[in-house]
Amino acid sequence: MSTIRPLPPELINQIAAGEVIERPSSVVKELVENSLDAGATRVEVDIEQGGSRLIRVRDDGGGIVPEELQLAVASHATSKIGSFDDLEHVASMGFRGEALASVSSVARFALTSRAREHDTAFRIEVDGGKVQAARPAQHPQGTSVEVRDLFYNVPARRKFLRAERTEFAHIDDLLKSLALARGSVEFRLSHNGKPVRILKAARDEAAALQRVAEVLGEDFPAQSLRIDHAMAGLHLSGWVGLPTASRSQADSQYFYVNGRLVRDRIVAHAVRQAYADVLFHGRHPAFVLYLELDPAGVDVNVHPAKHEVRFREQRLVHDFLFRTLHEALAQTRAGQVGLPAT
Ligand code: ADP
Ligand code: MG
Repeated sequence: MSTIRPLPPELINQIAAGEVIERPSSVVKELVENSLDAGATRVEVDIEQGGSRLIRVRDDGGGIVPEELQLAVASHATSKIGSFDDLEHVASMGFRGEALASVSSVARFALTSRAREHDTAFRIEVDGGKVQAARPAQHPQGTSVEVRDLFYNVPARRKFLRAERTEFAHIDDLLKSLALARGSVEFRLSHNGKPVRILKAARDEAAALQRVAEVLGEDFPAQSLRIDHAMAGLHLSGWVGLPTASRSQADSQYFYVNGRLVRDRIVAHAVRQAYADVLFHGRHPAFVLYLELDPAGVDVNVHPAKHEVRFREQRLVHDFLFRTLHEALAQTRAGQVGLPAT
């Protein structure tokens, strides 16, 4: 007969970590999303050895008060929702209260923060799930999280880390997608002490398009159409690439729902249909699109990594996307823009 026992808390966190923390870029995603939720205007990401040695994310957001540092790394503890009703309207990137608990259970972890209107910063360290008491530290207003030796205590995961270059490329891709989500925030990324990417805060549309160019390529702006259309509580804005900007791979597609990058079947289908008669088979459109709608109209609590969403009115969303993009692209079909002269 086997005996049923409750799992120890560290093990619960490590199991939860398995769901969301697949590789260093997943850690960067969780930490940067926290910085954005904290209202940061500037986020710095320092990586060593593809993130397997160090991931450090620093922000100038609202910070965490000393009394709550321990809670921040406890599982199922969050400042973002308090009721099921909040969950239905959630506008923050996070809400599960699991990320810091998960990350700190599979790495050597430190959290340093100075809350707004506090003179002193405090730091806590977590090693293998054991939380140390908070100690005073030096830090400007905001928060730094350091994650060292990721998966040092989960050999099976550590073994699956790829080459330093590959892991860093994932981090860079992720940062680009977050930078497109929040144009008004400055992002800096360094690897092994060398600055790799500096994205200054974009304060107007020209600067926003410049940021898009840094991610999708300098020739994208000239080969794209501006989209800005609202109807029935749905607002779609951004840029869609002309057929001349199409790619052989679907690697330049950014679709945000209320500021969150999503991969959604309904969205993918609507976009594909809209491009159907202007793109050759096997070509993939490039686009950066932002869909805004009432948070109650979309369920983001579908998957722990939150890449998937469920629209309450799928048909409406699908048809709105299809029509808006189809009409914009109709100009190219008429041969007015983007197509080579025949
Ligand atoms: P969630 O983001 O789902 O709430 P996390 O485990 O990622 O869960 O974070 C737990 C809590 O710690 C957050 O709700 C927030 O209050 C606080 N926190 C985490 N990172 C930061 C940060 N960079 N700045 C301010 N507060 C933070
Ligand atoms: Mg979070």
